[in-house]
Amino acid sequence: MSGKKSDASSLKLVGGRLCLDFMNTVGYRGCIDLGEYFNNYQDLVAWSRHAGTISHREAKTLSLKAAKYPAKAQYALSRAIELREIIYSIFSAVAEDKPPAKKDLGVFNNYLSRTMTLSRIIQTKNGLFWDSNGDKANLDWIINPIVRSAADLMVSEELQKIKKCADPICGWLFLDISRNQSRRWCDMKDCGNRAKASRFYQKKQLSRLVNS
Ligand SMILES: [Zn+2]
Repeated sequence: MSGKKSDASSLKLVGGRLCLDFMNTVGYRGCIDLGEYFNNYQDLVAWSRHAGTISHREAKTLSLKAAKYPAKAQYALSRAIELREIIYSIFSAVAEDKPPAKKDLGVFNNYLSRTMTLSRIIQTKNGLFWDSNGDKANLDWIINPIVRSAADLMVSEELQKIKKCADPICGWLFLDISRNQSRRWCDMKDCGNRAKASRFYQKKQLSRLVNS
């Protein structure tokens, strides 16, 4: 987890799946003052390029279009954020061994219907891939790979391996593919080390009290 409120392209991709990394574009989910990384459409473009869901050329086209149509860009951003929060709510419930809310699945299914209408499989020199060419005139096709990733994960066996970071302030989600399912932190270097430092401090305080 990181608390920096800008530069979505510097975010760590530690979720293990595209849709999980997308949900982890908010820092400090356990606090009232969330660390929002998607403050404008360009942040969404920057993150998508960073995560590899769009090409350099697509990023450029989307950025130019967003600058030309700011209201459409704002709408596409609001849809991306709504999608992110819906799938966070679904996967968060799963991580806590609870059933996802029917309402959330209903909203997600609306996104899925639209995405699948606009998606197709194309052949490239590297093989067969999803493509969102159905509606590239629109600015919100950028979320289609996220919707497909979330739908794939929801019906896969990996669903059982989704965990929430043990730091309640963080709230990031990740896929625990460790051999003994022992991963506790989104990032050992970040939340893990902070917890370690906190435990060390508490131990020190306790030994001071005992020895005083
Ligand atoms: Zn964390």
